Amino acid sequence: MTVLDTPKPDWVTEDVAILREAADRFFCEELAPHIDRWEDEEIIDRWAWDKTGAQGFLCPSVPEEYGGPGGTFAHEAAITESLQMAGLDSFGAPLHSGIVTPYIVHYGTEEQKRRWLPKLVSGEMVSAIAMSEPGAGSDLQRVATTAKRDGNGYVINGAKTFITNGLHADLIVVVAKTDPSEGAKGVSLFVVETEGLDGFRRGRNLKKVGQKSQDTAELFFDDARVPATALLGTEEGEGFSQLMQQLPQERLLIAIHAQTFIERALAMTLNYVKEREAFGQPIIEFQNTQFKLAEAKTEATIARVFLDNCIERHIAGGLDTTTASMAKYWITDLQQKIVDDCLQMHGGYGYMDEYPISRLFRDGRVLRIYAGTNEIMKLLIARSL
Ligand SMILES: Cc1cc2nc3c(=O)[nH]c(=O)nc-3n(C[C@H](O)[C@H](O)[C@H](O)COP(=O)(O)OP(=O)(O)OC[C@H]3O[C@@H](n4cnc5c(N)ncnc54)[C@H](O)[C@@H]3O)c2cc1C
Repeated sequence: MTVLDTPKPDWVTEDVAILREAADRFFCEELAPHIDRWEDEEIIDRWAWDKTGAQGFLCPSVPEEYGGPGGTFAHEAAITESLQMAGLDSFGAPLHSGIVTPYIVHYGTEEQKRRWLPKLVSGEMVSAIAMSEPGAGSDLQRVATTAKRDGNGYVINGAKTFITNGLHADLIVVVAKTDPSEGAKGVSLFVVETEGLDGFRRGRNLKKVGQKSQDTAELFFDDARVPATALLGTEEGEGFSQLMQQLPQERLLIAIHAQTFIERALAMTLNYVKEREAFGQPIIEFQNTQFKLAEAKTEATIARVFLDNCIERHIAGGLDTTTASMAKYWITDLQQKIVDDCLQMHGGYGYMDEYPISRLFRDGRVLRIYAGTNEIMKLLIARSL
C-alpha cells in the first residue's frame, strides 16, 4: 500500500516478509472489518486478543522455551506495521508485545518467565504498563504509588492514569516506590495479576480525542497485597534503570506507528486528489496539490530511510537513547504535519468521520505526547550535544 519508492530494507528478510504477508491478511480480513463498531463502542472485543494470539501474532520475540516463536525485533516491527497499516491504531497489541512483555523477558526470574510468558504469547493474558499518575507523567521519579514490604509480600497503594489496555489487562507492570525517601533508586517494578486481587480497582474508560476503541483507563490500588514474587527480578530499586533501558524500543515502536500514519495518509490522499474535481479538473492538476504531495513524499522518504536504519541498528543491539528519541520526536511531528496537509487536500470531506483521513488526524495526535513527550525527547537529545 505504500506510495514510497524506497527499496526493501535489509531487516525485511525472507521469513519476515512471509510473516508480514500472513499478518496483512489476518489483520485486514479478520479484525479490520470490526474497527467502526469498536470505535463506536469505545472498546475492542476481547476475542480479538485471543484470535491474534492463536494466529501467532502476539509477542513474536519471546523465546521458544517460553512458548514464543523466538523471533527478533524484525518480526515485532513487521507485525506492528502490518497491524497499523490495516487501520488498527487503537489495538494495544504492539504495547503488549513490544513494550510490556520485554520487561519480563529481560528482567524476570526463571519462575516469572515460565508463569507469564506463555499466557502473554497466547493472548490468555493481556498486559499493560502503569507508570503515569495524576501527579507524575514526564517526571517519573515523582511517582507516589508505594509498595511496602509486609510479611511475605508487598502492599501497593496509589493511583495510575492514562493506562493503555487498562480495562482488558490481566497482568500489569506497576511502577512503585519501594523506598519513598529515594528518587530513581527507590523505584521498583511489580508484575501484578489482577484477577481476584483485593484492593485493586479499575476506573473510567477515559474519553479521548482519538484512538477511541483503545481502553485507556485509571487504575487504583488500595492496600492491594501481592506476593513477594511480583517484584520483577530479585532486587528492589532496579525499576528506574529497567525502564530507561527499555524506553528506546518503546520510542522506536511509536516512530514505526507514526510512519504508518504518513504512508497511509499519502496513499489515501493520492487516490482522492486524482478523483475529486474542481474548476473542471482533478485536484491533482493544481500545482499547489502537486507541490504539497511532492514535499510530503520527500519527507516521508527521509523518515522511512532513517526509521529503517534505526530498526536495523536496534536489531543489531546498537540503537542508543539519543537516536531513538530523534526518531520518535521527528517522525511523530512530521506525521501530524503531513496528515494535516492531506486532510486539507480532502476539503470538507476530510473533516467528515466517514473519510478515513479524519480518523488519522484524530488518532495520530497522541503520538507526540505518549511514550515520553516530544519535549522530553529533545531534552534527551540535547544531553548528547
Ligand atoms: C492515550 C494515552 C495513552 C497512554 N498510555 C500510557 C500507558 O499505557 N502507561 C503509562 O504509564 N502512561 C501512559 N500515558 C501517559 C503518557 O505517557 C503521559 O501523558 C506523558 O508521559 C506526559 O505526561 P503528562 O501527561 O503528565 O504531562 P506533563 O508531564 O504534565 O507535561 C505537560 C507538558 O509539559 C511539558 N514538559 C514537562 N516537563 C518538561 C521539561 N522538563 N521541559 C520541557 N517541557 C516539559 C510536556 O512536554 C508537556 O507538553 C498515556 C497517555 C495517553 C494520552
